[in-house]
Amino acid sequence: MTPPRHPERLRAFIAALAELIDSHPPEADLLHRGGKLLGQLVRYDDWLPDEFAIADPTRYQQFLLHADSRQRFSIVSFVWGPGQSTPIHDHRVWGLIGMLRGAEYSQGYARSADGHLQREGAAIRLEPGDVETLSPRSNDIHQVNNAFDDKVSISIHVYGANIGAVKRAVYQPDGSEKLFISGYSNAYLPNIWDLSKENQA
Ligand code: FE
Repeated sequence: MTPPRHPERLRAFIAALAELIDSHPPEADLLHRGGKLLGQLVRYDDWLPDEFAIADPTRYQQFLLHADSRQRFSIVSFVWGPGQSTPIHDHRVWGLIGMLRGAEYSQGYARSADGHLQREGAAIRLEPGDVETLSPRSNDIHQVNNAFDDKVSISIHVYGANIGAVKRAVYQPDGSEKLFISGYSNAYLPNIWDLSKENQA
C-alpha cells in the first residue's frame, strides 16, 4: 500500500469544517457551506489512504477517518463492494455524502399516513465530485447502494455527531423499526498529522 499523495486535503477539510461549525451557522447554511467544502475534497481522488478503500466481500465497510474531539462531527469512508447496499435507515443528525470513486444510488423514503414507508421521489445517482445532504428535518430516511455490480465504489460521509455511536434505526418497508448503533469497521486511523515528510519538501 502506498501512502496518498495529498493527505493534506483531508486535514484541510477537517480544519475548514471545524471552523465552519465554530461559527454556529443555522443547519441549512452548515449543509450548504459544508457541502461545498466536501465537494472540494471529493473532486480529487488522491488523498484517501489505501487502508480505507478496501472492500469486504460480505458487507459494505464504514471506516472512521476522523472524529471531532468534541464529537460535533465525524468523517467516514463508505466502501461498497460490487452490488452491496444498506438497509433502509435513518441518521438522526445532519449528514453530507460526497462521491469519491465509482457511483452510488440514494433512495429517499417518507412515512405515509398509515405508517408505511414509501419511496420519496426517484433515487439520486451520485457521481465523483457530487454531494448529497441529509437533514433530520426533511430527508433523514434512505437506502443506499453501489451503482455497480462489478466494481468497488467509495463515498465520504460527514455527520453531525460521532455517527458510529449514535442510536438510530433500520426499517422494514412496513415502517417497523429496529434500533442499531453502527460502530466502525476499522481499528486504526489515517495518519494525517505526521508532517515530517511534507515539511521537508
Ligand atoms: Fe445513510
